[in-house]
Parts: sequence; structure tokens; C-alpha cells
Amino acid sequence: NFSLNQLQDIDAAHHLHPFTDHKDLRGAGSRMITRADGPFIYDSEGKQILDGMAGLWCVNVGYGRHELAEAAYEQMKELPYYNSFFRCTTPTPVLLSKKLAEVAPAHINQVFYGSSGSEANDTALRLVRHYWALEGKPEKNIIISRHNAYHGSTVAGTSLGGMSAMQSQLGGAVPNIVHVMMPYAFELAEPGESDHDFGIRAAKAIEDAILEAGPENVAAFIGEPIMGAGGVKIPPASYWPEVQRICRKYDVLLMLDEVITGYGRTGAWFAAQSMGIEPDTITTAKALTSGYQPLSALLVGDRIASALVEKGGEFFHGYTYSGHPVACAVALANLEIIEKEGLIERVRDETGPYFNKALKERIEGHPIVGEVRSFGLMGAIEIVKDKESRARFPDEGTAAVAVRDHAIANGMMLRATGDTMILSPPLIWTRETIDLAIERIAKALDLAERDLRK
Ligand code: PLP
Repeated sequence: NFSLNQLQDIDAAHHLHPFTDHKDLRGAGSRMITRADGPFIYDSEGKQILDGMAGLWCVNVGYGRHELAEAAYEQMKELPYYNSFFRCTTPTPVLLSKKLAEVAPAHINQVFYGSSGSEANDTALRLVRHYWALEGKPEKNIIISRHNAYHGSTVAGTSLGGMSAMQSQLGGAVPNIVHVMMPYAFELAEPGESDHDFGIRAAKAIEDAILEAGPENVAAFIGEPIMGAGGVKIPPASYWPEVQRICRKYDVLLMLDEVITGYGRTGAWFAAQSMGIEPDTITTAKALTSGYQPLSALLVGDRIASALVEKGGEFFHGYTYSGHPVACAVALANLEIIEKEGLIERVRDETGPYFNKALKERIEGHPIVGEVRSFGLMGAIEIVKDKESRARFPDEGTAAVAVRDHAIANGMMLRATGDTMILSPPLIWTRETIDLAIERIAKALDLAERDLRK
């Protein structure tokens, strides 16, 4: 058995972390989470923390689900691994594909598996370009994305994404990807511009990019229905219908990245259904297994899937763990829990609206809060220095980190991104859990304000 200090020393000596400043690790040491149950995580010192991020937007059914452990155990005993290459497969990815086709929008009936959201987006990028090549239009290969989008950390994921810090370390992106403005009214709407008009203008940026490149050269537009890592940016209701109209007008495919929004977070199986979008592909991962196993599923619409079948020829693409039998067994058990416990309906009808009301009534009035917003169980709190002018505190990110650190010290895990606090709790949260979270967040805001105004 290792002490916390010993583990931290070993960690700093040998473990390179994702999205971490390694200089910091040597100073403060990492926070060691050692167990979890229901909506709570516990650190190595036994401190209980309410997990407002569902791990990393993924543990939708909460922690401690023995059914999922048993599903993995049974499958590992029976058949721990076999591949899905070269016309082989195993039963669980077959059954999972059937289930996903049932819950996905009606025109989506095929699934391609990977282990992560990043891989699924790589697949999506290659697949839409392959589709246009099959259609005899290989030059139709430009993908339009948005500034500040997050589509993963592989080279293709980073290239599709619009995070400037990530792109600056890429040293050469995948070619033929262009980025347009994001639908973020809080910072980008003109004074006096209505939400509706702003949504139409943000969509028009996509049309402008299509016309500039020439529609005959544009393969697809990709977007998160609600930008997650970029700060839970909820577009105005006018945005997605207009994006859909533009894509149809110029015969540009629509790729939705639902790695965060998939499997119930917005109060429907997919945000496509919450928002009435009919995408050609939907990238999913995370909550497909509630994070209990690494698994991603790229849901592929009939238009692309039927071209693969009718035109034939091999799509030279796949991962060793595509359709991993154990991960798929866990996904099946996870989807069963979501259905059996009515978690999606609960988000839509009860906890989602309650969460929104609690944020509006008990957080938005705080002196360092400029805006709160939520959709289903996905929320954001904008931290500002001045409510009226929406001026931010100096040194972007410092204020949000202060709120986050006070929150964690106060038993509440939430994430800071730029000057925005983000929340994405497990779907098992009840009104009582929401009340507890709001109370802890309000206290963290008070303490952070005290420090920041010193
Ligand atoms: N797409 C979106 C919208 C995400 O939020 C993420 C991860 O947070 C990814 C893709 C990448 O998924 P992964 O980290 O599983 O590769």
C-alpha cells in the first residue's frame, strides 16, 4: 500500500497527464480519486465530492453499478476479445448496433465502432470524404467546423476542432478544414441583436464559407449541438434549423458530434432529436457505456451507408478494438439501465427544468455571475467582474479556477474553462442533489468573490 505522498511522487515521476501543466504536478501533486458511489466521488483522504461533471461528461448512470461490472465479467469469461475485421464479428456489437438503430433518428441505421470520441471523429472525417469519392466527387472534401469546437485530440480531431491553443501545437493540420464563428450570443451578439437574429447570422457564416470554397468542394459541416468543452454554448433556437437548411441547399453533409450530448443528456437519446436535426452522421462515445468501458459509436445515416453497400469496395479503415465484445456488452447493460430507470424522461420532464430554474433563481443573481444557461443536464455559469458591462476579471481563467478550487474544497466538482464554469452531472441527480450542488456552488462563488475583489 502506498501513501498519498508516495503515489503523488510516483505520478509526477512517471505519469504524463492529458491537458495538464506538468510543472504544476511537481508542486501541488495530483488529486487522487480512489472510489465512487452513486453521484459521489471520494479522494484518497476519504473526502466526499459531489461529481458535477459525471467524470468527464460520461458517467450518466452514476457510479457503483454492479450490473455493468457483471456484464463485463460475464463477457470476459465467455469471449474477452475477437475482431470485427474481414467479415468476422461477435454477438455483442451486433446486438448493440440493433439497439442503437432503434433509438437513433429514423434515417440512421448503421454503426461503426471505435474506443474513443476522437477515433469516431477520425472515422467520420474519412467516411464522408470516402462517400463523396464513391459518388465520383473526390474534390468535394472540405469540412467546415467552428472556432472553439472540440472534436478530440488525435490529429484529425484537433484539426476538426477549433481550439487555438491545441492547433498551435499541431505543427500541420489535416488539410481542407475551415473554421467559422461559433453561435455564442453572450459574447458575439451585437448590441440590440435578438437571439433569433444572432442564430441566423451565425448560421450564415457557414453559408458564406460554403460559397467561398464553392459548394462543389464542400463535403460536410461538423458541429457539437451544444459546444461542450468550449463552454456549454447553447445556440439560439434559430441556429440548427437554419444550418440544416443551408446544408441541404448546397448538398453538404451534416455531421453532429454528440460525444457529450448523446445518451440522454439533453432529455432525448440524442440532441438531434431534442433539436429536430437530421444529421448524416452522429459521433457518440462517453455515456454509451457511462464511461465504464472505452467505446465510441459513429452512427451513420442511410445515405452514406447505402452508398457503401451499393457501390461496394473496401473502406480501408478500422481499429483493433472496433466492436470490442466486452465494451459492447457493457454498453448494452448501460442502455438498459437508462431505459429501465427512465433517466432520459426524467431529465426532459423533471430534473432538466428544475436544474435550469435553480441556476436562474439561485445563481444568476450573484454579483460575479454574468449569465447562466442550461439544456437538459448540461449547464454553464459565466464569471464576470461587472454584471452590467460583462467585463471579465483580469487574466482569463483565473476567476473560474478560483471558483472551481473553492467548490472542490467545499465538496463540489465542476469544471472551469476560460471564464466559464461548466456542469454536466450524472442523469441520476434528483431535485435534492441539484439543491445540494447549487448550495455548494453559491458558497464557492461567495468565497471566490471575496478573494478576487481583495
Ligand atoms: N467530441 C466532443 C464533443 C468531446 O467533448 C470529446 C471529448 O470530450 C471528444 C469528441 C473526444 O472524445 P475522446 O476524449 O473520447 O477521444
